[in-house]
Amino acid sequence: PYTGPSSAEILQKRKEYLSPSMCYFYKNPLNVVDGKMQYLFDENGRRYLDAFAGIATVCCGHCHPDVVEAIVNQTKRLQHSPVVYLNHAIADFAEALASKLPGDLKVVFFTNSGTEANELAMMMARLYTGNHDIISLRNAYHGNAAATMGTTAQSCWKFSTIQSGVHHALNPDPYRGAFGSDGEKYARDVQEIIDFGTSGHVAGFIGEAIQGVGGIVELAPGYLPSAYNSVRKAGGLCIADEVQAGFARTGSHFWGFESQGVVPDIVTMAKGIGNGIPIGAVVTTPEIAQVLTHRSYFNTFGGNPVCTAGGLAVLRVIEKEKLQQNAHIVGSYLKERLISLKEKYELIGDVRGRGLMLGVELVTDHELKTPAKAETLHIMDQMKEMGVLVGKGGFYGNTFRITPPLCFTKENADFLVDVMDYTMSKI
Ligand code: PMP
Repeated sequence: PYTGPSSAEILQKRKEYLSPSMCYFYKNPLNVVDGKMQYLFDENGRRYLDAFAGIATVCCGHCHPDVVEAIVNQTKRLQHSPVVYLNHAIADFAEALASKLPGDLKVVFFTNSGTEANELAMMMARLYTGNHDIISLRNAYHGNAAATMGTTAQSCWKFSTIQSGVHHALNPDPYRGAFGSDGEKYARDVQEIIDFGTSGHVAGFIGEAIQGVGGIVELAPGYLPSAYNSVRKAGGLCIADEVQAGFARTGSHFWGFESQGVVPDIVTMAKGIGNGIPIGAVVTTPEIAQVLTHRSYFNTFGGNPVCTAGGLAVLRVIEKEKLQQNAHIVGSYLKERLISLKEKYELIGDVRGRGLMLGVELVTDHELKTPAKAETLHIMDQMKEMGVLVGKGGFYGNTFRITPPLCFTKENADFLVDVMDYTMSKI
């Protein structure tokens, strides 16, 4: 049993000693002390079905025994910077990771987070092309350091720092966007930005295939081929941010970008790749990778033995337990059930996403799409009381983000929808 400090004591310490910007979900924030696969446990041993997985961070399940074993064994043997000596862990994981990517994408740079991966990717695009301008999508989240905060495009995540050479293109959002599901129409904005907002030459484009923080917005079909085409004609590189949509989560494919039928020049990843331990990666072609040989590039912990041993174990579990297929089967079933719920409740404006990356947007008016922010918070709180944890996101904070560990079952999906149904029926 748990013998640590109470929720009240932890809250007090957070208030006194931690960043005032740290936020938490729920009126009575949850004190999670244990995790096992798709479940979390609070200090009283109460079990919760976790349909958020720490922001899509846990992919094969909390404390998956194979991943824990790999991490513990490596920790007992050696933890170190991977930079100046040889160690097999980083090489083995790089080889395994590269085998999951299409085309010539086979050189891996490891980082410690998604932000760092995107910073590195954008710097490489700028160095390789000799251009500066980067295009990202409105409503995107790419990180919180200098360049990535520039490309992140929601005011709530942006501080007034200098945002140099970044252009935000129309978001190909099938629900709220002006052109519905016509991806090619939105992509014309990328061409117009190049024509009217730059010298005609750009360093690149960065985008998520399904916006996570943005509220599970799946890019309208046909968008990426068209946008990539404009960017490449202007000399730029195409960067796919797979921090949330990658690693088998979308079920139909291993990577989110594959559903749009494109092959990026650079792919970035983090979160799920380590099943909860801090690791990120940038994968690119041997030719582009050369740009970092012009100077010294150094990252003390990027690709350290413990995190890469964990990452390799994650890849093996995904394959052994067929988690991509499971994400597809259970995700499709869950989406169907959520769509039925939409037919029952006016409050649900949209159900969207792919695999185990699903969104449910709540509105008080279907025509005006007025965000039902208070209702979202209330339902989320009530669902927690009934033992189900979902995330929340989108610019208006009115979209449930359902991104459980990929071991989620149909029974879990039924329980989640039944609880959401019951909670909505009480509104
Ligand atoms: N890209 C995407 C798509 C993300 O969702 C996030 C984190 N929410 C990041 C990048 C940044 O990752 P990190 O928080 O690990 O820096």
